Amino acid sequence: MPRTCTICTNPDRAAIDRALVAGDAYRTIAQRYGTSATALHRHKADHLPAKLAQAAAATQTADAIDLLSEVRALRRKAYSLLLQAEAAGDIRTALAGVREARACLELLGEMEGEIDRRPIVNILVAPEWVAVRSALMAALMPYPAARAAVADRLVALGAGS
Ligand SMILES: [Zn+2]
Repeated sequence: MPRTCTICTNPDRAAIDRALVAGDAYRTIAQRYGTSATALHRHKADHLPAKLAQAAAATQTADAIDLLSEVRALRRKAYSLLLQAEAAGDIRTALAGVREARACLELLGEMEGEIDRRPIVNILVAPEWVAVRSALMAALMPYPAARAAVADRLVALGAGS
């Protein structure tokens, strides 16, 4: 029958564990909490490592949650700055807000495992679009002015992409 650990059942166990981790002398801790150095020694060797591992896991989880809510707060702030800048007609600041918000969204997406980093398809070089464009140009043959206007716009679209 294993002996009950007087440290594990001690109401001050959390504080004792902290003192043990901090490397305080057994005698000092024993005096402070009215226990024995032997019990402290045994507890540190037999029970503290498992406790520490649990605490570390809990801390990591809490840290991850903190990080996530921090990014969410950043995103809210970026959006709010963006709206303010937009309302004030400050395009430069609004664009900075857009970039900030996008970066936050990307980070959030990565954290939540939602981002699929596939390359973005450029429709202007897709074979389907090339066929549509040829058909459009052919259909506009009888209307040179319209054809030229459409061609100009398509060139501008291509340059902008
Ligand atoms: Zn113990």
